[in-house]
Amino acid sequence: MRLGLPVRRFDAIVVGAGGSGMRAALELARAELKVAVLSKVFPTRSHTVAAQGGVAAPLANSSEDNWHWHMYDTVKGSDYLGDQDAIEYMCRRANEVVVELEHMGMPFDRLENGKIYQRPFGGHTQDYGGAKMAMRACAAADRTGHAMLHTLYQQNLRASTQFFVEWMALDLIRDPQDGAVLGVTALEMETGEVSIFQAKATLFATGGSGRMFFSSTNAFINTGDGLGIAARAGFPLQDMEFYQFHPTGVYGAGVLITEGVRGEGGYLLNKDGERFMERYAPNAKDLASRDVVSRAMTTEIKEGRGCGPNADHVLLKLDHLGPEVINRRLPGIREISIKFANIDPVREPIPVVPTAHYQMGGIPANYLGQVVAPEGASTESIVPGFYAAGECSCVSVHGGNRLGCNSLLDLLVFGKSSGEQMIKDLRGLPRPQRNLPQDAGGFSRARLARFDLTGAGESVAEVAADLRREMQAHCGVFRFPDLLAEGVAKVTKIAERAGRIWISDRSKVFNTARIEALELQNLVEAALATVTGAHARQESRGAQARADFQERDDKNWLKHTLWYKEGNRLAYKPVHLKPLTVESFEPKKRTY
Ligand SMILES: Cc1cc2nc3c(=O)[nH]c(=O)nc-3n(C[C@H](O)[C@H](O)[C@H](O)COP(=O)(O)OP(=O)(O)OC[C@H]3O[C@@H](n4cnc5c(N)ncnc54)[C@H](O)[C@@H]3O)c2cc1C
Repeated sequence: MRLGLPVRRFDAIVVGAGGSGMRAALELARAELKVAVLSKVFPTRSHTVAAQGGVAAPLANSSEDNWHWHMYDTVKGSDYLGDQDAIEYMCRRANEVVVELEHMGMPFDRLENGKIYQRPFGGHTQDYGGAKMAMRACAAADRTGHAMLHTLYQQNLRASTQFFVEWMALDLIRDPQDGAVLGVTALEMETGEVSIFQAKATLFATGGSGRMFFSSTNAFINTGDGLGIAARAGFPLQDMEFYQFHPTGVYGAGVLITEGVRGEGGYLLNKDGERFMERYAPNAKDLASRDVVSRAMTTEIKEGRGCGPNADHVLLKLDHLGPEVINRRLPGIREISIKFANIDPVREPIPVVPTAHYQMGGIPANYLGQVVAPEGASTESIVPGFYAAGECSCVSVHGGNRLGCNSLLDLLVFGKSSGEQMIKDLRGLPRPQRNLPQDAGGFSRARLARFDLTGAGESVAEVAADLRREMQAHCGVFRFPDLLAEGVAKVTKIAERAGRIWISDRSKVFNTARIEALELQNLVEAALATVTGAHARQESRGAQARADFQERDDKNWLKHTLWYKEGNRLAYKPVHLKPLTVESFEPKKRTY
């Protein structure tokens, strides 16, 4: 017992039961290790369940393809900020992890010949950026993430992974001697009790932070918890300024309409009925990379060619595909448009706007899932006992902009590789666990006690609403210098206010007010990192589009940003331009 807190001991802890956490847990459980998976929600409710379009792999079932082309597209899509060793690693392992998932029972759509169905997706091409699109997205209708998450969950049950459902991780426990991670503190929502989870290996797989924006495709639970926890424990966050806006969120609701719609032949129209993407990306058109399409849409709207009474959105037309294709390949999309836009896409186009979607940045990790910390100007060291995978990590395979379907792939590849690495590291360690520091858990207890003792302060709902509004206004698709400077000041103030929030409900059992307060304290860290990094980066690259620096500047800015909570400070580190076995892809002008 430590400070009166119960201690639960495992070989490994995985925080997060999305695709990445469950893929890693499966590897660990199959190696007969005692693994605990913590999740705020029932595992199959994690945001991975919402992924629609597909998972990328150069299986070459429908078009010629290979991992070299996939690697090229990913490096180019990242606007050359992605680490090329990690990108090579991911693309080379893509076919293996997808076929493995198929063999676990993933219900992929099929071609006539029985092979996995593949559709084209933005930025995925043949022949190193040639004119022809590659059919690389392996799909289960428009519910690929749903099928994937259920498959992984079932396999984990079979392998006896131990799930802690509705448990929220609060803070990391580190060894004061060498900084090694020894586990986490976590709150059981049902009882309100806090426990220490101790293990020699802890993996963060907590997903994204899309709730920092007003209009977002992300689930309500995507509050950047892993990022806030890591930042409070002294770790930097990497490349947080690169936040992807998906071109097609339902106007007014933000719910995602998959790029698979355009992959199947849908296209965008402005108020004049013009297929405007032909002007911005003559080759790839509507299937250009997401940052390119989002900027084109925003430009159309800004220049007065938007649709509707307020000229504030564009239209996504797919009725020409016919009810048969729509019902077979895009049934979920039809349902979403009818529910959220009151439009049946079989007859009318869907009103859409760019919507916050995916965080390219995160906890710095290598392609084996090990968290890395900077050591001097150009070297980094591995943090013992700490791993990160999935959207909360920055490996960095997506660099400045992620290609569609490369996230589900990243979950599988790096979920697996981090599991493999944890097994290897655990085998090399002595059997007994290290002693916990005397004050382990004290920090979390003090944070919670504040809520019980404070009788007045800021309202959680108001601070959260202000955060979302300011982030949307100051750090959106296009970024202006004065707005960014103002944004840093405003979000800094909001972060201070988040330190003074209070809740009136002191009950223990399923106290959701307390959960939301804790989530907000994580979300503000992610938001501050995002706007601070965006303000500092004086160039346009990938998702970062600066009005005052419209070009990419490789001379000064071909480097990763590291943000530290302490002092809201930034540092930088070099991009890994050297792949593992092939020649580097040199930065070139990025056109589609
Ligand atoms: C609507 C939508 C559609 C998408 N479509 C595609 C697609 O077609 N193809 C593609 O490649 N990508 C797609 N993406 C992106 C991709 O789905 C996500 O990046 C990916 O699923 C994230 O997986 P993850 O494992 O990192 O985390 P998630 O699936 O987000 O899971 C996070 C887990 O962490 C847990 N957690 C978080 N904080 C805590 C805490 N404090 N304590 C305990 N547990 C915690 C949660 O409970 C959850 O289990 C889409 C994203 C969205 C939002």
